[in-house]
Amino acid sequence: MLEVNQTKCSVARKAWRKNMPKHTGGCLCGKVRFELSNDPEVAYGCHCRFCQKATGTAFRSGMRYKKGNVSLNHADLKTYIYTSPEHGRSLNVHFCPSCGTTVTVTTERFPEAQVMMLGTLDDPSSITVDMHMFADEGMKWVSFGEDDTVYGKHRLNSDGTPATPLNV
Ligand SMILES: [Zn+2]
Ligand SMILES: [Zn+2]
Repeated sequence: MLEVNQTKCSVARKAWRKNMPKHTGGCLCGKVRFELSNDPEVAYGCHCRFCQKATGTAFRSGMRYKKGNVSLNHADLKTYIYTSPEHGRSLNVHFCPSCGTTVTVTTERFPEAQVMMLGTLDDPSSITVDMHMFADEGMKWVSFGEDDTVYGKHRLNSDGTPATPLNV
């Protein structure tokens, strides 16, 4: 009898864990909150000029998700649509209208993807960044870890094949 009860208990706990988000986060003022159901497909630093300008910093710390794995109370998020002068596609910055925190970025090139910002996680130490893109446009004083994978441009070529990392 006791064994049966224990089994039931462990099944219930598993179901509860399944529904728990893997990561949670939000904007600076707390109006925007989100839940992520799994770890990101990739976590990266992006050193392109768009990310430098849009974040006001040396590089963006981004996490690539499938849209279906992001749950966002984005009813009142504002969107700024930037059209790249290089490739002509749009990059959409979605931010909190109250505090201005960029919560997520979507792109015309990867419509199925949603880029979440590592710094908005409740526990940003839960994710490690060991891949960097657009190092060609990066600040010269930024250095990379020995084991990091660093790309001069995007990690994917324009035809979608994997790019070759730089030796840094
Ligand atoms: Zn806010
Ligand atoms: Zn970028």
